[in-house]
Amino acid sequence: MKFRNFKMVSYVVYGRGSFNQLDEILAPQRKGDAPMIFLVDHFFNGKPLASRIPLRGKDKIVFADVTYEPKTTQVDALAKQLKDEFGTVSGVIGIGGGSTMDLAKAVGLMMTNPGSSADYQGWDLVKVPGVYKAGIPTLSGTGAEVSRTTVLTGPTRKLGMNSDFTPFDQIVLDPELTADAPINQRFYTGMDCYIHCIESLEGTFLNEFSKSYGEKALQLCQKVYVERDHWDAESDEMLMMASYAGGMSIAYSQVGVAHAVSYGLSYLLGTKHGIGNCIVMNHLEEYYPAGVKEFKYMVEKNNIEIPTGICKGLSDADFEKMMDVSMGLKPLWENALGKDWEKIMTRDKLRRLFEKL
Ligand code: NAD
Ligand code: ZN
Repeated sequence: MKFRNFKMVSYVVYGRGSFNQLDEILAPQRKGDAPMIFLVDHFFNGKPLASRIPLRGKDKIVFADVTYEPKTTQVDALAKQLKDEFGTVSGVIGIGGGSTMDLAKAVGLMMTNPGSSADYQGWDLVKVPGVYKAGIPTLSGTGAEVSRTTVLTGPTRKLGMNSDFTPFDQIVLDPELTADAPINQRFYTGMDCYIHCIESLEGTFLNEFSKSYGEKALQLCQKVYVERDHWDAESDEMLMMASYAGGMSIAYSQVGVAHAVSYGLSYLLGTKHGIGNCIVMNHLEEYYPAGVKEFKYMVEKNNIEIPTGICKGLSDADFEKMMDVSMGLKPLWENALGKDWEKIMTRDKLRRLFEKL
């Protein structure tokens, strides 16, 4: 048995209004006059948050288009743009949802690693540290703020740059920043966390480390989406910590069936992570009976519409492509179904599951 020895985020600040400390936090990380680059979710273009960013010297705000989830081509273009303009930078600060945080991690790595980010999609392929990286979530749920990966769609696959150099050097957890997220988006991203918990807690890789975080995250999700009847500042605070703990839980376990199938949808149809997971979770009674029952209750209670019929009319070749992507995620299946997963999840069975979505 080889135990995972994983790298974590180096510094964490938590609290309502902690964003205001950003200038002070970044000051010791500045290298001469090399600028800090603030990669900010395009939603905040023209919004008050953008004017609160503590710009100094040649610092620059780059608004990230997250209409689609991050691509290796987008990462490479951003890194090239920064290298052409500045040579080197002091750091990359990602402010936004999981997409923007992943972009910031990947661009930070590609400021120093040669070639294309597509060359590093996989486990432990990144060889040298990137520049200083900080992550500031404005949506809670993905756990991207704590994870050692950055999920990218590349020329041949959707896979993260998973390495010890990937985690942020600093995260700023300020629940105030998530307050204005649209209800549907907040639900889908929040359910990403709920699903992380179910997949981790019901998985075969579970140990006390991931259980202790998973149970806490699950409890916080239940408070927010099952027990409470309104959304307030406390809900934002609870969900932000749920996201963090959910991410810590999967750091020492793995996700499962919902993620494995949802990656297939995302690769072929561009379905976004949060909503894709929900579309799949809706049909996973066989694998996660209690979790799916509670999930459906939360969907109803929060008046959310989960799309159905998204695989209608797809060709055999389309199904094959989605199944290839999904089946390729071996650790996820092994966590969900055990060592003999291939005997349980046959291609036939997976095809029938995709057809239901
Ligand atoms: P997102 O970052 O894709 O953003 C979704 C939408 O919400 C966007 O339109 C964005 O502009 C908007 N938005 C963000 N913050 C907002 C706010 N405060 N108010 C209003 N609108 C806001 O959504 P997400 O669910 O946070 O992230 C999904 C991404 O995270 C996917 O790309 C997925 O692959 C990635 N992910 C990464 C990890 C990891 O470990 N690295 C884990 C899970 C998911
Ligand atoms: Zn997820």
